[in-house]
Amino acid sequence: MITVDEALKIVLQRVQPLPVERIPLDHALGRVLAEDVRSDIDLPPFDRARMDGYAVRANDLLTTPATLRCIGEVAAGTTFEGRVGRGEAVKIFTGAPLPEGADAVQKVEVTRSNGDEVTFDESVVPGQFVTKRASECSIDELVAEKGRLIGPAEMAVLASFGYATVSTRPRPRVAVISTGSELIDVARKPVGAQIRNSNCYTLGSYARRAGANVENLGTVHDDLQSTREALERAADKRDVVVTSGGVSMGDYDLVKAALVEIGAEVFFDKVKIRPGKPTVFGRRGSTYFFGLPGNPVSTSVTFNVFVWPALKLLQGDAHPALPTVVAELSSEVVDSSNRRSYQPARLFIEGGRAFAQPLKWVGSSDLVAFMRANALIISGEEVHRIAKGERVEVLAIGDLEGK
Ligand code: AMP
Ligand code: MG
Repeated sequence: MITVDEALKIVLQRVQPLPVERIPLDHALGRVLAEDVRSDIDLPPFDRARMDGYAVRANDLLTTPATLRCIGEVAAGTTFEGRVGRGEAVKIFTGAPLPEGADAVQKVEVTRSNGDEVTFDESVVPGQFVTKRASECSIDELVAEKGRLIGPAEMAVLASFGYATVSTRPRPRVAVISTGSELIDVARKPVGAQIRNSNCYTLGSYARRAGANVENLGTVHDDLQSTREALERAADKRDVVVTSGGVSMGDYDLVKAALVEIGAEVFFDKVKIRPGKPTVFGRRGSTYFFGLPGNPVSTSVTFNVFVWPALKLLQGDAHPALPTVVAELSSEVVDSSNRRSYQPARLFIEGGRAFAQPLKWVGSSDLVAFMRANALIISGEEVHRIAKGERVEVLAIGDLEGK
């Protein structure tokens, strides 16, 4: 059986980023940059006032109070046509370019104006309340590298450097199939051995969070022909098909057999991971298939470990895997398996330190306990017990909580 690292390596080697496209900036949030971003201007483009006040020559205010002659004003969006000479000042507003001759701004709060004269109660040092031209960024600087996720701050940078269109990769088209004859729709009340289908919501939500466009293709009964037909249908025009259930060793676990029958190449079908051992990964043409186990926690863990990086890689993300953090264990963790285990935990910060609190759970069907998890405690294949207080690696799968 291959290790998690080996399986992840296979995923990262097999998955090829989607072809690059240019899209309007307005649509770029949540996409990944497929080009390096360079500045086409200096920022700021001119020496800029940081305060409302007066543009002055610092030398004129060496001793205060000092009175200067106000020779005009300059507001944001305008330029002062002239020069500030000795004994002179220009009224200036935040964001306006510093007039020639001036080397500082004094804020209006420490001045008194009287007609065209203004008296300063405090001196200034050269450069005070001025943001120098190009101090934030100079022209033709590399400001963001390809592979970076575009968030709100990246949007501002792109806008400031004239990227009306941005080179990115498309959102992966993902289909979710839930296998299991026991599954019923959320709107129904289970009777007997029925189970409401929750995995399609988990998987669809994680995939969307990873940047994909997702279609939920519903449930499939545990027979080979239906499974084959569902996979065949799902593969059409999809980059990734994710299934849940039907990958264990039982007579009704048919996903792998169906994948082989539709002509997919299966790269692995078992990984030394707990939970999630029977995870399947394959490909047919340009469509990748992930067969995840049906237990809700196993589904979530294997998605975050294997499918998340694949979806990010398709989008060209330079850091496709979810981040890991080192945290102190709040209570002991035990794991009897010889596989790498991922145990649901609450990761939180207290007094500036990161802690991982393992969740009490009944097993990999316990989706209620899993709801509180924002991290997974990783313990190595040969590790069976980690004591409280020890430092452990955790995979961050949700938002960090403060305390
Ligand atoms: P399987 O991997 O098909 O053996 O499924 C294992 C268990 O996971 C089943 O007995 C179900 O209780 C549960 N399960 C499977 N599919 C789903 C689903 N789509 N939503 C919720 N639970 C599921
Ligand atoms: Mg099943």
